[in-house]
Formats: sequence, C-alpha cells, structure tokens
Amino acid sequence: MDALIIGAGAAGLAVAEALAERGWEGDITLVGQENYVPYDRPPLSKALLSGEQEFDFVSLCSEESLQNNNINLVKGKTATLLDATQKVVNFDDGSRMIFDKLIIATGVDARDLPATQHIDAALTLRTFEDSMKFRGLMTEGKEILVVGAGFIGLEVAATAILKGCTVHVVEPSPGVLYGKFPEVLSERIRQSHEEKGVNFHFGQVVEHWNAPDGVLESVTLSDGTTITAEAALIGIGTIPTTGWLADSGLTIANGIMCDAHGLAAEDIYAVGDVSNWFLPLIGENRRIEHRLSAGEQAQIVAAQLTGTDAPALDLPFFWTDQYQEKWQGYGYVDWQADIEIVHDDKEANKLVAVLRKDGVLEAVIGKNAVKQLMPYRRELKLAAQAAGAAKL
Ligand SMILES: Cc1cc2nc3c(=O)[nH]c(=O)nc-3n(C[C@H](O)[C@H](O)[C@H](O)COP(=O)(O)OP(=O)(O)OC[C@H]3O[C@@H](n4cnc5c(N)ncnc54)[C@H](O)[C@@H]3O)c2cc1C
Repeated sequence: MDALIIGAGAAGLAVAEALAERGWEGDITLVGQENYVPYDRPPLSKALLSGEQEFDFVSLCSEESLQNNNINLVKGKTATLLDATQKVVNFDDGSRMIFDKLIIATGVDARDLPATQHIDAALTLRTFEDSMKFRGLMTEGKEILVVGAGFIGLEVAATAILKGCTVHVVEPSPGVLYGKFPEVLSERIRQSHEEKGVNFHFGQVVEHWNAPDGVLESVTLSDGTTITAEAALIGIGTIPTTGWLADSGLTIANGIMCDAHGLAAEDIYAVGDVSNWFLPLIGENRRIEHRLSAGEQAQIVAAQLTGTDAPALDLPFFWTDQYQEKWQGYGYVDWQADIEIVHDDKEANKLVAVLRKDGVLEAVIGKNAVKQLMPYRRELKLAAQAAGAAKL
C-alpha cells in the first residue's frame, strides 16, 4: 500500500509524519511544487518579513528527518491532473505516479490583481520567496501600499510600520477585517494601527497604477486621491488550489468537499486549506484556513489510513500578531454574532470578548489574554457539540 501526498506544506508534511509515526507500512511520497523542504507560513507576514528570522525558523523539517521517517520528498514538481479511476497523478514534467491512497494538500493561491501583473514591486504573499522579496522592498523610509485590510494586509502593515515605512492601506469595505471579525473588535484593531501611523482609505479601490516601465511610483484611488507608493502588497484573499482537479470527478465547492474524516472519494483524502470538511460539531461543511487545523486534520486522516485511534477535531483556533498585540480566538467566529466584552484592561492592553448567537456561545476572542481565554474553551466545545447534535 503506497501513500502519495500532493502538496508539501504544513498539512501535507503533517500527514506524512503522522503516517510514519502511526506505523504505515508502504511507501510515503510527498510531492510539492516548491523547491524547499516544507515550511510554516504564519511567519511570512511576521518574523520572517521583519527580518528577525530566517528560513531555519520557518522550516518544518530537514532532509535528514524526512529520511529518518522514510518519507520520500519530491520537490519542484507540480501535479497537473488526477485520474481517480486509474489512481494516477500526472505532473508538469510529463511524469506520472500511481497510488493506493492519495492525500491532497495543495493549499490555496493568493488572489491577485490583474492590473499589477507588469509591476515588479507589487506582490502577493504566500511563499517564502514572496516574503523575502517584499522584505527587501520594505526598508526604512519606503512608501508601502497595502491593498486589503484582512489579516495578512494588517500584519504586513504592522511589520512595515515597525520597519520605519510610511504605510497606506486601501480597502473597499468600511473597516478592517470587515465581514470576518465583530465590528467592535475591528474598530479596536483599526485604532491601534492608526495610533502607530497607518493611513487607511476605506471604501476605496485602486483605479490606476502609475508604474512606467513596471516601476511603481503612485496609485490613484476611486475618490481621486493619489498616493505615492514604492511597493505594494496585495492581500485580497485566497483561492483553493484545485485547478488541477477539474476533471477528477471530486466534488469541488469552495475547496474539496470531504466527510468528517477528510475522505473526498474512495481512497482519496484532502487536508489543510484546500479541504472543506464536514464538521460534526456544527453539522455543516466548512473550509478553514488556520495553521493548527491543518495539523489536526492530518492526524485524523493518518489515523483512518493506519487504523489507529483518531483525535477528535478540536474547535478552530486562530491567532494574529500585530505590533505588541496578540489576538487569539477559539470557535466559529460569526462577525454578526452578539458580542459581549467581558474583560477590558486598557492599561495592560488586554481584552476578552465572547460571541453568542441565539444565546449560544459560539466563539471567544482575546487580545494579549492567553490565560483568560482558557475557561471559555470547554464551555465552547460543549455548546458547539450541542448545536452540532441538534443539526444532525
Ligand atoms: C502570510 C501568511 C500568514 C499566515 N498567518 C497565519 C496565522 O497567523 N495564523 C494561522 O492560523 N494561520 C495563518 N496562515 C494560514 C496558514 O499558514 C495555513 O492555514 C497553512 O499553511 C495551511 O497549510 P496547507 O499545507 O494546507 O497549505 P500550504 O501551506 O499553502 O501548502 C500547500 C503546498 O502545496 C503546494 N502545491 C500547490 N499546488 C500544487 C500542485 N498542483 N502540485 C504540487 N504541489 C502543489 C504549494 O506550493 C504549497 O507548498 C497564514 C498564511 C499566510 C500565507
């Protein structure tokens, strides 16, 4: 029995390692399109981007540790087609691989702006190379434009401010993290950024990129404002990397639809950002782009494949670091849920907010409040289980 894993990011590596740990007896082949050992992405907008850390900080394994686990890593190879009936994957170099069990872990691509294709200093941020390139552009005194006030845009804005850059953030919505985070908390985040010097342009899009010969000089916004910009980071969301699966027969609907154990079709599983699992806790499918979910899903799939005990899927956990503020959350965040701020210590810059829907606890979010969040976790899990059971 041979396992083939496509996508050598956090989720793909975690499946490979979990299979090895759980006694998988066949070959484990991990194929990735990048030319690096699997690495962690959260630092790409934080410590790696700022220059505090280098690749050894983000790498998740070494060639040696992979060999010790009998994991065969194939780098620089892109899967282009899946024949699920014949159990074959084709690659860009013309080669093919057959499998007994396939695990798809191809993650997501950063959504791009076609108007910036010809501009050298306008980048999305998904890979180690993107981060290193933007780090090189983001030196002290530079005029940095961020398009999109989502998590990645805000983290880049914070890092750029800490590096001594001038920062403008352009966002079509009326606020930061709009539609993702409760408004009262988004407001707090906006205030922190403004206090540090970030210039927001809400309700605006970039109408014109002024970049003669591909060299960015300025942009014009929809309200006619012109902003000087030497480099731009496009942080406008992601698209699940499923193009190569178009003719596979798998059900693709905002990622690869899976059951509660990651099964997408007979002998085919999906994990990580690209997957859209059924979540018994809430009684519906949901695609989750959180680093820790990738690791948990990997353990569940490896348990299925090896017939070993599977851990239960925990509630989603996310975090974002901006300046000295570490925001964390447990649960399924609905930005329109009823919110109650139960702890608000402005001096210590700590905050805890609980989110309820129809009186049922759904999520808890904290700022610099790791310990204070803990008591809510058990309560949340019980509430989610009750809600999930009611929907089954
Ligand atoms: C800048 C940034 C900051 C983040 N910060 C946080 C954070 O603070 N907290 C948090 O919880 N999460 C964060 N995330 C999200 C987190 O990194 C992801 O949830 C996690 O990386 C998912 O792992 P994955 O293996 O599913 O996908 P990925 O890590 O994207 O790995 C997928 C791999 O598959 C490869 N691949 C794609 N297509 C093919 C193909 N056809 N053939 C072969 N290989 C292919 C890709 O090249 C890639 O290496 C951040 C992400 C980014 C980009």
